Amino acid sequence: MKTVAIVPAAGSGGRMGKEKKKQFFTIGGRPILAHTLTRLSLSPMIEEIILVAPEDEILACEQIVGEYSLRKVKKVVEGGITRQESVSHGFGETPRNTDIVLVHDGVRPFVTVRMVEDVIKLAAIHGAAIAAIRVKDTLKKVDDGVVIGPLPRDGVVRVQTPQGFRREALKKGLEEAASDGFVATDESSLVERLGMLVHIVDGDETNIKITTPDDLKMAEALLKSMEG
Ligand code: C5P
Repeated sequence: MKTVAIVPAAGSGGRMGKEKKKQFFTIGGRPILAHTLTRLSLSPMIEEIILVAPEDEILACEQIVGEYSLRKVKKVVEGGITRQESVSHGFGETPRNTDIVLVHDGVRPFVTVRMVEDVIKLAAIHGAAIAAIRVKDTLKKVDDGVVIGPLPRDGVVRVQTPQGFRREALKKGLEEAASDGFVATDESSLVERLGMLVHIVDGDETNIKITTPDDLKMAEALLKSMEG
């Protein structure tokens, strides 16, 4: 079974409040992106990785790939304005004989082999699978700093990546979304629209998406605890 991973890393990192894009910030002295790509490479089930980079950072990404000997990264392609467009660009480079396409955020460096392989195996059986975790906190709807009312928590999950799909399913999801002008914040939403059932595997609280300066502090602490 041939699995190819797409790693969207073409965001502008606006929420980090700095000039530098978040995927290039370092934790433990190495770029976040290097951690993510190294972790993904650990799974023998992933045959190759397609990295999607910001237009002006393709060289920087290629340097990271070289410096950290990320041999599974076969291509670095230019991203788009939305994450979906970036994934679509990456998808265009997946070989036709790919069975499963795995999508994983460049800014989630603590992904585990267990999670990756659970997603791939379930996607191979059902067509689509994603990592997610149960919501533990009470949820409320708010408006302008004031609580409007409760939100039910039963059966609600927080969605992470990796997300895995049979190649044909993701192809159709991306194509139909593009022709309908539908834009989503994750890929599973695209195949849900096709009427496909998306299966859940256990994500992990440590599989954080580094988006804000606070996330960066948390990531440093997590890394220390894992390596210490
Ligand atoms: O923007 P969001 O938090 O969903 O970003 C998740 C991942 O998607 C990040 O790794 C980011 O670099 C990537 N992304 C992208 N192209 C965009 C926007 C985000 O590859 N246009």
